[in-house]
Amino acid sequence: MMIDARGSNGQLLMEVAVVMQCFEHAKANEIKDAVAVCSNCGAALCMDHLVEEVEMIPRTNEQRRLIFCHKCRPNKR
Ligand SMILES: [Zn+2]
Ligand SMILES: [Zn+2]
Repeated sequence: MMIDARGSNGQLLMEVAVVMQCFEHAKANEIKDAVAVCSNCGAALCMDHLVEEVEMIPRTNEQRRLIFCHKCRPNKR
């Protein structure tokens, strides 16, 4: 996530990188950068803790990707 503040002349005044930490790692008193957020509970997750699901949108041929944590992962049928 990048936040930048620009002056009225467009000059870059400040640039701050906000790095989210993995929620599951944080619970274990560890720190790891998060790469995604759970679609259900909003927990920030690293690659080790996210589950990627692809679902078809009904009545279309489109797919959408959803990221879940291990707790919110939908049960596989
Ligand atoms: Zn993690
Ligand atoms: Zn979740």
